[in-house]
Amino acid sequence: MQTDFTIQQLLDPAVAHSEAILRKCVHCGFCTATCPTYQILGDELDSPRGRIYLIKDMLEKDRPADEKTVKHIDRCLSCLSCMTTCPSGVHYMHLVDHARAHIEKTYSRPLLDRLYRNLLALVLPYPERFRLALRLAGFSKPFGKLFSAIPAFRPMQAMLKLAPKKRPEYQRTFQSGVFPAIGNKRYRVAIHSGCAQRVLDPNINAATIQLLTRFGVEVVVLKDEVCCGSLVHHMGREKQAEYFATQNILAWSKELAGDGLDAIIITASGCGTTIKDYGHMLRNSTQYASEAKTISELAKDITEFLDRLALPKAEDQQDKILAYHSACSMQHGQKITELPKRLLRNAGFQVRDIPEGHLCCGSAGTYNIMQSEIAEQLKVRKIQNINSVQPDIIATGNIGCITQLSSGTDIPVYHTVELLNWVYGGNLADK
Ligand code: SF4
Ligand code: SF4
Repeated sequence: MQTDFTIQQLLDPAVAHSEAILRKCVHCGFCTATCPTYQILGDELDSPRGRIYLIKDMLEKDRPADEKTVKHIDRCLSCLSCMTTCPSGVHYMHLVDHARAHIEKTYSRPLLDRLYRNLLALVLPYPERFRLALRLAGFSKPFGKLFSAIPAFRPMQAMLKLAPKKRPEYQRTFQSGVFPAIGNKRYRVAIHSGCAQRVLDPNINAATIQLLTRFGVEVVVLKDEVCCGSLVHHMGREKQAEYFATQNILAWSKELAGDGLDAIIITASGCGTTIKDYGHMLRNSTQYASEAKTISELAKDITEFLDRLALPKAEDQQDKILAYHSACSMQHGQKITELPKRLLRNAGFQVRDIPEGHLCCGSAGTYNIMQSEIAEQLKVRKIQNINSVQPDIIATGNIGCITQLSSGTDIPVYHTVELLNWVYGGNLADK
């Protein structure tokens, strides 16, 4: 694609990077075939190619974002399916991140939109605040339908709908500290305990620690680690995302320089995609660029690290047919596709692929709150596809997907690591 940025504009590293991405796009439109929003809405401006044109125009003219551009960028899930499909290697993720940051700086959103976004940014990344919000949601859940009548209150309805049916077992939230390896110590890792995940489903981190320590891994959970920043990053709040990233980088770098770390384990693939990109996010920082790159290289999805441990082959769980839902951040963001299924098959499950597996379930961070109607359509389509393989259980590697799918089916939805921990000697929580 030909671009027309001035030399002056290209002196800005963010613009220069986006220009290089834009130049790679050859307008072929292959990406439209796998874009969930284009599949549902059928509007070229809700396709990757359409959004790329909107972003190009906005950045090239160096103009404030307008309502039309914001509407179509807001509708993008950041699922990155287009990146998997694109034959030219267009890095849509960095381009849309830049567009979102530009929108945040230059566009004044309607009041209610601003209020919802502020609320989400002030609550979700902070476990204590989120825990309190979930309690309030528990009381308000019966009134959710009242909100549906008024379009402006749909995000409220969506939040209440997504609140878990059962209150998470708060007492099982583990504390920071060192969890020693059982037997010979083979590795030492830090796990990122996350923000929303540790509140919504503390069993995931508990299962991760149990499984890793059982196979000779010392696990450390750092007191100073915080949200990875992805929730606010996807809202275009660059500064807040960079603040979270630097806090984590400082905490993990200190541990790395101290007792050492073989890996930083991430159990939510949405967080993994962001942490693996810290090196890019802070590439121009004189203070943190080098440490950010090191941390990104150490970051591993739990399944990538379990592969190193060579878990033994387990007996067949003949009665357990499992549908594996690959989160977008897992398959498109981190390009981890076969590995989780291989680990589950090795653990004895009959793993079935879900038709249209490349399509998002509609979760996408805060998307299922802010774009609840599109998210609902994607969820219904995903559940229909899941039902077609008649599973007993669903496995996935991202808390956002677990929450989204659980709100649309009675089939229990587990994190991959909870199932592996169960097969290799742990307990499995009822869902
Ligand atoms: S990230 Fe997903 S929703 Fe957004 S343009 Fe790409 S395929 Fe479409
Ligand atoms: S597939 Fe890639 S090159 Fe083709 S239009 Fe989409 S982003 Fe551009």
